[in-house]
Amino acid sequence: MSELAENDIIEFRLNSWLENAAICGLVNILGEDHVTIKNQSIEVPLSEFVNFEEVYFNYFAKQYEKLSSFTKILAYEAEMARQQQDNFSHFTRKDYDRLQKYLTDLKRYGTSNSYKAVYPLIESSVDIEGLLKSIKLDKLKKNELEQNREQVVERVKKLYEQLDKVYVYFKRADVQRYLPAKIQIYSVINKGYSDVSFLNRQESKGDFFEKYHQYFVSSMMNYLNEEHKKDKLTCSNCHRPIKKGDLSYSFINQAGYDANRKQSNAWDFNNDLYMCPICRLMYTCIPAGFTYVYNQGLFVNDNHTLQSLIDVNKGIRLNVLELNKTDVRSKNTYAALIRTLQDQMNRQSRKEIQDIQVIRYENERYYFNLLPKHILRTINMSKEKLPQLFNAGFTLNSESHYLYPEVVDSLMNNTNLFRLIHQILRVKATGGQVYTSSNQIMKMIEINQNFLKELIQMTPLEPQELERIRRDGYFFKKEYANKRKGDSVGLRLLNALKVNDRNAFMDILLNSYMYLNKQVPHYFTEVFSDDEHYKTIGYCFVTGMIGEAHNAEGGNENE
Ligand SMILES: [Zn+2]
Repeated sequence: MSELAENDIIEFRLNSWLENAAICGLVNILGEDHVTIKNQSIEVPLSEFVNFEEVYFNYFAKQYEKLSSFTKILAYEAEMARQQQDNFSHFTRKDYDRLQKYLTDLKRYGTSNSYKAVYPLIESSVDIEGLLKSIKLDKLKKNELEQNREQVVERVKKLYEQLDKVYVYFKRADVQRYLPAKIQIYSVINKGYSDVSFLNRQESKGDFFEKYHQYFVSSMMNYLNEEHKKDKLTCSNCHRPIKKGDLSYSFINQAGYDANRKQSNAWDFNNDLYMCPICRLMYTCIPAGFTYVYNQGLFVNDNHTLQSLIDVNKGIRLNVLELNKTDVRSKNTYAALIRTLQDQMNRQSRKEIQDIQVIRYENERYYFNLLPKHILRTINMSKEKLPQLFNAGFTLNSESHYLYPEVVDSLMNNTNLFRLIHQILRVKATGGQVYTSSNQIMKMIEINQNFLKELIQMTPLEPQELERIRRDGYFFKKEYANKRKGDSVGLRLLNALKVNDRNAFMDILLNSYMYLNKQVPHYFTEVFSDDEHYKTIGYCFVTGMIGEAHNAEGGNENE
């Protein structure tokens, strides 16, 4: 039997996206300084795993600190100190109402399941649940603050004394160790795996640090201490010998034996695939490899080298953080992805750009996109235009659509933007809710040209040409004395574009120009060269017809 030595090394090798996400997570948890990064593998000294549960849970607590209810709970303390320092001289009704709202949140969070599961682990004489329950603040009556200011302040002061006790409790070292981690177990960690160890329903009470240690760390150490020469089976991931096939993949979300899953990208695990305890511990790091914003997770499987895998996912984490400085929105995971890919490409030459697999976690399942080189180049060429689509959107069938994620989604699915452009113009033309300017629609048309150029080698029209066509469309409609007639021509052109009927489009156009006694611009002859030119020119023209004036064109935006 081999004794474990402090300087023993464990190797983890890149494999499929699932292992790669786990390895990336392991590096995130331990920190790059604590592992040796090779081209296709990492080496971790065994000593790093001695108290692995501490760094493990701490990683999630720190990484998602900003979104945590625990942070929100402690946030009022600063406000409280301010009021006390100020001796309540600026205390207003607004402050009172805010305090009341805060108390509602405090009680709601403080009595939620994750909090209640932690309290028994804290060796304190404070009955925190009882304390939270006892906290009450009467509603402020009309003019009460103005008429009985002293009484009201006295009431708040009394309440602050209770809050003080609450903060003392929540700032205990043991509460700080357990609570933020417990919160992340149910908001992040369980997105990667479930129904095992501390995540098992029956095991939800008790010390999850200990449970994690017992279940994952100790069994790995025991495995390493045992003799394996006579083992008949092998781990299906790392091929280390194993005695029994008792560790299955079923605890990993969406990768187990779930026979109901039919999506093609899913893993086809057979019933006779088993893993070793080392790999099992590794797989618990999957949620640390993904970047989550609320219910959306993202992992980029850039497995070119291990360093590139770590760098691209680090970029996404940093960009999510940066983009969410003011506000956290799930659509920003897309923006973070795009920014990161653009940063990456700026550092590579055009020749080096490689296909990249993107894995998204949404609605409790994984979605896979392969971003081929031509899409990556489209994104790169559109780097100035894409950010201009932030905050743009429209409402269709009472559902909100945000342009930025929908454009990225279309591109990632290798789909042109004509359908989306059509939808916006249609809603705009029929007086629906659209928060998208003509200028933004033009940006979409340009991005779409970048896409078509890469996909089918379409010769794109220059931005000035596109702009000229839009302008012509705008003034074309102005020619109509009867605005409604102009609108109806716009809608008919839009329909001809939708059904891809070039002849109908040209008929409407020629008739209208004749009616207005004007000459048809020469670029419309290009409509017949191919579908892409037809639609690009057509949508530019209709954007002008339907859209508002650009500043230089004068007129009223609200016309
Ligand atoms: Zn293994």
